[in-house]
Amino acid sequence: MKTRRGTSYHCVLEYQLRRTKKLKTLQYDLFDTLPDDLVLSILAKLASTASCPADLMSLLLTCKRLNGLCTNSVVLSKASSNCFAVKAKNWSESSHKFLKRCSDSGNAEASYTLGMIRFYCLENRGSGASYMAKAAIRCHAQALYSLAVIQFNGSGGVKNDKDLRAGVALCARAAFLGHIDALRELGHCLQDGYGVNKNISEGRRMLIQANARELASILSYDVKERRVTWDPLPHLVGPVCPLLSDFGCNIPAQEPHPANKFLSEWFKERKPGPEIRLCSHDGCGRPETRRHEFRRCSVCGDVNYCSRACQALDWKLRHKMVCRPANLAGAVEFNMNVIEDGVMVVDS
Ligand SMILES: [Zn+2]
Ligand SMILES: [Zn+2]
Repeated sequence: MKTRRGTSYHCVLEYQLRRTKKLKTLQYDLFDTLPDDLVLSILAKLASTASCPADLMSLLLTCKRLNGLCTNSVVLSKASSNCFAVKAKNWSESSHKFLKRCSDSGNAEASYTLGMIRFYCLENRGSGASYMAKAAIRCHAQALYSLAVIQFNGSGGVKNDKDLRAGVALCARAAFLGHIDALRELGHCLQDGYGVNKNISEGRRMLIQANARELASILSYDVKERRVTWDPLPHLVGPVCPLLSDFGCNIPAQEPHPANKFLSEWFKERKPGPEIRLCSHDGCGRPETRRHEFRRCSVCGDVNYCSRACQALDWKLRHKMVCRPANLAGAVEFNMNVIEDGVMVVDS
C-alpha cells in the first residue's frame, strides 16, 4: 500500500521511527554533555532548598548518573535539614547511614540531628555529644544551645556533672549567632545569677532583645502565612507565637527544628522508662537522662522543663492558663511572681 506521493507506508513509518530515535539520542546527549561540576552545583543548590526527604530521593532514583552525583560529598554537605526530616516511625539503619554520610561530608545540620538522635533516642551519650560538638565547631547555633542544656542539667551523668559556667559560655556563643532560646536562657541566667554573676538589668535587656528578635522573625514570614487573628486569652489554642500570645494575638508559631520533632515523635511511641519525664514544652521533646533531672513547676508540680527557655515559652503559650497552686501559700507565691516577671518560679 502506497501514500498519495507514491511512498510506501512502511518507508514513512521507518522514517518516523528513525526521527524519534534521533531526537531521543539528541536529548540524552545534551544532558550527557553537561560537565559534572555544573550538575553538582545545580544538585547542591537543589539539596539546600529541599522541602522534604522525597525531594532528594526522587533525584536519586532518576538515573544512574544523578544517583552517583547526588551522593557526592559536595551535594550531601549542602543538604538542608528538611532532607533529614525522617519520621521517627520510619527510622531505619539506612536513614542512620544517610545522616552519618552527610555528617562525614561536613554537613553541620546532619551532625546536629544525628547527635540529638544518638544522645537522647539511642542513649549513646558519648557519640551523640561528639556529633553535636562537631556541628558546634562549625558555628551551628542549635548545637551550641543543645550542648548548653546538657551542661546545665549534667545530662548523661550525675547531678554533680552539671557545669553551669560551661552552659552559660555555650549559651552566650549561641546567642551571639542569633539563637533566640539561647538569648532568653542567658537573660534568665543573668537575672537569677545562675552560672554567672547576677546582673538583673543586663538580663532584662537580653529578654527584651529575645522578644524583639522573635517578633522580627515572625514578621519576616511569607505574607500569606501571617494569619494574625485577635483571640484574647484564655481562649488561645494551638501553637502560637509565645511573645504575641501575651497580647492575645494568635500567630502560628515557627516550626520546631526537625530534630525536636523527631524526639517528640520518638518518645510518643516509646516511653523513655519508669520515672523518666519529658520536657513539658511542646516544641522540645527532650527526655530526662536520669531521675529528677529536669526542674519542676514549684506552683502546681505537674510540669517539668529541660531549661529556663522552655519553661518561659510554655508558660506564655499554655501553662499560665492551667497552672493552679497546690495550696494557699502557693497561691500567694503564684500571683506575686506573675505580676513581677510574667514567669513562674521553678525548683532548681
Ligand atoms: Zn525543653
Ligand atoms: Zn504550674
